[in-house]
Amino acid sequence: MEKAARLDHDHLWHPFTQQRDWVAEEPLVIDRAEGMELIDAEGRRYLDGVSSLWCNVHGHRHPLIDQAVRNQLDRVAHSTMLGLSHSGAAELAAQLSEIAPPGLSRVFYSDSGSTAVEVALKMAFQYWQHRGGQHVRKTSFICLDQAYHGDTIGSVSLGGMDLFHSAFDPLLFEAHHAPPGDIDAMERLVATREEEVAAVVIEPLVQGAAGMITHPPGYLRAVRRLCDRHGLLLICDEVATGFGRTGTMFACEQEGVSPDLLCLAKGLTGGYMPLAATLATERIYEAFLGSYSEFKTFFHGHTYTGNPLACAAALASLEVFRRERTLVRLQPKIRLLTQWLDELARMEEVAEVRQCGLMVGIDLGAHDPELRLGHRVVLEARKRGVIVRPLGDVIVLMPPLAISKQDLRRLIDVVAESISAAYPVAELDPGARGRLDAALLEAA
Ligand code: PMP
Repeated sequence: MEKAARLDHDHLWHPFTQQRDWVAEEPLVIDRAEGMELIDAEGRRYLDGVSSLWCNVHGHRHPLIDQAVRNQLDRVAHSTMLGLSHSGAAELAAQLSEIAPPGLSRVFYSDSGSTAVEVALKMAFQYWQHRGGQHVRKTSFICLDQAYHGDTIGSVSLGGMDLFHSAFDPLLFEAHHAPPGDIDAMERLVATREEEVAAVVIEPLVQGAAGMITHPPGYLRAVRRLCDRHGLLLICDEVATGFGRTGTMFACEQEGVSPDLLCLAKGLTGGYMPLAATLATERIYEAFLGSYSEFKTFFHGHTYTGNPLACAAALASLEVFRRERTLVRLQPKIRLLTQWLDELARMEEVAEVRQCGLMVGIDLGAHDPELRLGHRVVLEARKRGVIVRPLGDVIVLMPPLAISKQDLRRLIDVVAESISAAYPVAELDPGARGRLDAALLEAA
């Protein structure tokens, strides 16, 4: 075993990973990348079918973003936003306000999707406290079943995925859950809880980590209307859907919706650096204004908030969107992907395919978790030079926006082949399954 792999097994603890299974397999160690491909320590190339956990946008090592980060390195790598400012953070805030849905004119930085949500929750809560009177009772939240908003305790409180969230139940604050896509159920909940609810929190159009659950057209707009009618704030978590992933810069645009708070991360830097932003309306911002001794200040801020290298990468990524007309060039790829997924959906192993822009979930249906069918498909795909990652038995495809049509076709073909190759295992006895796993790992 290579040195990095050995040190990994001896010292690392991986996220969302059963370490007992992890150390039974030799890890794939990524050494570098180029465009759409990740390259391992032995020089083998893999198509990045999930944009390195849904964040890469223009491909790896894009010359313009690389150069912007290098230029920034020659000036300053990190300074603080607490008590100081810098031009990258200010310029990026202006550009984000410009491209965001109308009305979101204030940008508060943090460093991950979870913290972007955490900030939005605290802002929404404190907004109503500052409003005073009856409003101080607005201290809880409405969210969707199977929601995923991150792994910090606040965002987990809004989560609806039992597998990830139920273990932490005693630590969580109460949130009211509505079934996704059901506007009547949402209306009933909002009507009965309006006096105690600060905000409705949703992933607009598609719930990513839930397995790419798509909402019916008009749902988001209807939720916005309900919030307006009942005096609740709307928080849209576009950590996964933002920066073109659904076909428009932000998913909210597709329904003409402006939330009161918008959470961004992942694709913000083109997938280069950890940076997040929570965008707020002027109405929310102004509620926090007052004299120092009124203590209306938003007391929240992370050390690396608004990091200059990350802001430089984000500004360069937005420049690439403009120069390469990324969103215009994306449309024919989305249409082709829809056609190709239609073919894939006809495979007898596939229960359902869900797509929203370049966000795809290939659902293999319910299987014995012991089979680890999703994981087997991933290993088969890896053998064929493609990296994908499952959510249980849903295979997720989320390639970078800049992927070529040829690579997109290759991604679909390899995944279809990998599903067929992984499937017969469902009929094998456990001993034979074990031998097959060992052979598969050897080959991968
Ligand atoms: N919100 C959504 C919708 C997400 O998909 C994710 C991450 N997949 C997060 C929040 C959390 O982001 P992070 O992992 O950067 O904390």
